[in-house]
Amino acid sequence: MNSPILPLKNPPIEHVRQRCYDCYRPKYACFCDAIPTIENQTNLLILQHRNERTHPFNSARIVAKAMQKSQLIVGRNKELANQDLGISKNAGLLYPRCNAKSLEDLSPSEMPDQFVFLDGTWNHARTMYRDIPVLKKLPHYRLNPEAPSRYLIREEPTFDSLSTLEAVVLVLQRVEPKLTGLDRLIAAFDLMNQQQVDELRRRNVTLRGR
Ligand SMILES: [Zn+2]
Repeated sequence: MNSPILPLKNPPIEHVRQRCYDCYRPKYACFCDAIPTIENQTNLLILQHRNERTHPFNSARIVAKAMQKSQLIVGRNKELANQDLGISKNAGLLYPRCNAKSLEDLSPSEMPDQFVFLDGTWNHARTMYRDIPVLKKLPHYRLNPEAPSRYLIREEPTFDSLSTLEAVVLVLQRVEPKLTGLDRLIAAFDLMNQQQVDELRRRNVTLRGR
């Protein structure tokens, strides 16, 4: 297995300027080699608010890269509302409304064959839900996360207080309990978080030094 790619202390300047368009990190901090390939059977559809697409702390991109059956669709709410999103007949939406069923209460035969996730801040998720009519017609599901989010960096509240990656992992642990690779996906996520925390700390030190 590849070892995680850690940022160099003094990366070459061309690596600082160049960006990896898979993980959206500067090339010297690209952690794509740490992202596993996961052969999930349950289809995952992630709808991403357009403003999220270049957010460096976005976890949906990692999910889309790792999961074999996944699709990430990015757009403005209107664009998403007016296109065929490829939602299956037995799809379910992860959205914590009061009428949402807990995934814990479903038997294996009741499980949706596709899960739709809304990726963005809570406010983005709320406006996507409001503006994309097909979403309201889907059965709604919620998670009961036991642990707080590992997402150390973002200050804005995210959907269900979890990152999309964490929500995907919790869903798949429930729906496909024998699926392997989720631990490595979490490890890649931890690596991304740690890189970001280190980078922010370095910047603070620089600012204070001025
Ligand atoms: Zn990368």
